[in-house]
Amino acid sequence: MKDRLLFLGPPGAGKGTQAERLCNAHGLNHLSTGDLLRAEVDAKSALGTEAAELMNKGELVSDSLVLAIVKSRMKSQSGGWVLDGFPRNVNQAKALQILLEELDQQIQGVVLLELDEVALVQRLLSRGRTDDNEDVIRHRLEVYAEQTEPLVDYYLNQGLLLRVPASGAIEEIQTHIEDVLS
Ligand code: ADP
Repeated sequence: MKDRLLFLGPPGAGKGTQAERLCNAHGLNHLSTGDLLRAEVDAKSALGTEAAELMNKGELVSDSLVLAIVKSRMKSQSGGWVLDGFPRNVNQAKALQILLEELDQQIQGVVLLELDEVALVQRLLSRGRTDDNEDVIRHRLEVYAEQTEPLVDYYLNQGLLLRVPASGAIEEIQTHIEDVLS
C-alpha cells in the first residue's frame, strides 16, 4: 500500500477522521497541522496565541509557522505518514517538496476527499468547534477555494491525485480510500 500520503479536501470533508483511521489501521504517522495548532492554542504558548486569532477568523496561519511545525515532526519520525491539512497553498506545497528532497522521501499519493458544499456546511455546523460558526465556515470555504483548491491541479499534473467521494458511511469511505491506495 502507498504510505507517504497527503489528504486534501475542503473543511468538513472528513480528512481528519479518515487520516486517523488509515493511520491506526496501518501503523502510519498522522500529522494534522490543525490538531498540532490546536494543541499549541490549548497550551497557551506564544505560537498558540498568535495562531488562535487567525484560526477563529477562518484565516490561514502563516506559512513559516506551519512549516516549522511540519519540519520538526517529519525529521523526527520514521515509517509511513499521512499529512492532513498541509499543504494548504502552493507556497506550502513547494516548501514541502524541498523538505522531502532533503529527507530523500517522495509523496506516493494525494487523496482528494470530495463533498458538495451543502453537506460540508451541515457537517461543520454539527461539529461545534470554536471556529465552526456559520460566518467563519463560509470564510474557510472561500479560503479553501482560493488558496487550497489550486493544489488539485498541481498534484493532478504530477500524476499523484486519487479522488474519493466523501459522502456516505465512514467505513465505506475508508474502504474506498484503501482501494485507491492498494
Ligand atoms: P478543517 O479541516 O476544518 O479545515 P483544520 O483542523 O485542518 O480544519 O484547520 C483548522 C485551522 O487551522 C484552519 O482554518 C487554519 O486557520 C489553521 N491551519 C491548519 N493547517 C494550516 C496550514 N497548513 N496552513 C495555515 N493554516 C493552517
